[in-house]
Amino acid sequence: VLEEKIHDKKPLYSKTAARAESSRCLFCHDAPCITHCPTEINIPQFIRQIANDDIKGAAVTILASNKLGYSCARVCPTEVLCVGACVYNHSDNAPIQIGRLQRFAVEVAEERFGFLALLPNKRPPSGKKVALIGSGPVSWSAAAELALLGHGVTIFEKKAVPGGLNSLGIAPYKLQKKDAIKEIEWLSELGIELRLNNEISANSVGSLVKEYDALFLGVGLGEDKLLNIDDLSGPGVYGATALIEQIKNDAHFDLSAVKIAHVIGGGNTAIDIAHELKLLGVEHVTMLYHRAEKDMSGYAHEIDAARKSGVVFREHEQLKELVRDQNENMHITVFDSSEQKSYKTQTDLVALAIGQQKIIDLAEALGVNLDSMGRVIIDEQTGRTSNLRVWSGGDCCSGGKEVVNAVQEGKIAALSIHEYLVSQKNDAEVASA
Ligand SMILES: Cc1cc2nc3c(=O)[nH]c(=O)nc-3n(C[C@H](O)[C@H](O)[C@H](O)COP(=O)(O)OP(=O)(O)OC[C@H]3O[C@@H](n4cnc5c(N)ncnc54)[C@H](O)[C@@H]3O)c2cc1C
Ligand code: SF4
Repeated sequence: VLEEKIHDKKPLYSKTAARAESSRCLFCHDAPCITHCPTEINIPQFIRQIANDDIKGAAVTILASNKLGYSCARVCPTEVLCVGACVYNHSDNAPIQIGRLQRFAVEVAEERFGFLALLPNKRPPSGKKVALIGSGPVSWSAAAELALLGHGVTIFEKKAVPGGLNSLGIAPYKLQKKDAIKEIEWLSELGIELRLNNEISANSVGSLVKEYDALFLGVGLGEDKLLNIDDLSGPGVYGATALIEQIKNDAHFDLSAVKIAHVIGGGNTAIDIAHELKLLGVEHVTMLYHRAEKDMSGYAHEIDAARKSGVVFREHEQLKELVRDQNENMHITVFDSSEQKSYKTQTDLVALAIGQQKIIDLAEALGVNLDSMGRVIIDEQTGRTSNLRVWSGGDCCSGGKEVVNAVQEGKIAALSIHEYLVSQKNDAEVASA
């Protein structure tokens, strides 16, 4: 697949490099890096363990707070989370590369000891069963916690590939599909059942409610939003996440005929696809954003990196029209609102990165309340929805955040589901006594 042509931006540290970086840590008492980690990993503790050559202990510390500590180490926007909070930012020294140390600990410890050796022992079987719909990070996080607590866990995934956007959306220079799947294989060792090619519909969800003791909704977001412009479909026009998925998952997908590409949008998905196209050899990649560049929601460090790779950013510009000639060559009309005039230009590929739709049918079928934007409403302390046998988390609740937020929400929901299952079991025991 095409993504394998793109190099890892932050490869695995050598033992010497990890030791050198870990020994720079000041092991701060009120470590700000911890409070900026949504899963509250004890960062100074695991860094100290690496410095003391206790790699297994470091991985145990990480996984105690975050069962997807491997992929989070690689995909987290650490620049705005733990690394961005490191006290070294107030000095002339570079902040500690926490993500790279985290990857080193989990990857090396798993290789040496096996994944299960890094987790606590599973509790005895509870006899309770939980169904999780969707196999993205939120569900894997919840499933791992529930399996450790002794519950039977089954994940239902509509696609042939597990992992959600962690496998099929993340920029290849951070994490490739094969490595996201590797982590899923580790987690599966906990006895989590995965049913692929298994879409749960509004009609079939009722049978899960009957068969399982609790339900977790981790369906993420839906299809890419499209623009309401005539002829903006057909060959060469893509939704951004659909295009990224092809780059990561379609062995026959080829971009060799694409010389000029235009990406519409200003968020992280727009920047990711523009950057990926450039790294895959597309000569001219231009991002068109309808407001000022300073208003773009994409991270500044990602914008800088894409620009360094040669992506051109054009602000105050809007796609207005797409026309194909008899040879299927595409020409677009772009309106420049700062100059108040339009121009026409040729293109071989248009990627629309203007957001994703919400998936609401399952929530509606389950009687789960949604907010006015179609997001599932949950109690933040428990992840529980308005249907008291249904929990939820991740992008379908937030409207789109980061993998690490999904992991934390999965963890919170799992603990609440566990409390509910235990109380149900106790009630049943009292009733039968
Ligand atoms: C292009 C892109 C790049 C990103 N890059 C980063 C990054 O670098 N770092 C980062 O931290 N975050 C990144 N994110 C965000 C991150 O990927 C998401 O926040 C995270 O994956 C959300 O997890 P989730 O489990 O809620 O949903 P998802 O990962 O979307 O998983 C939902 C799963 O549910 C399945 N599903 C849906 N409906 C059904 C159904 N009816 N039956 C069965 N299965 C169903 C879907 O097929 C999917 O597999 C990125 C997002 C995008 C779009
Ligand atoms: S803030 Fe930086 S120096 Fe302090 S404990 Fe965290 S990583 Fe170490």
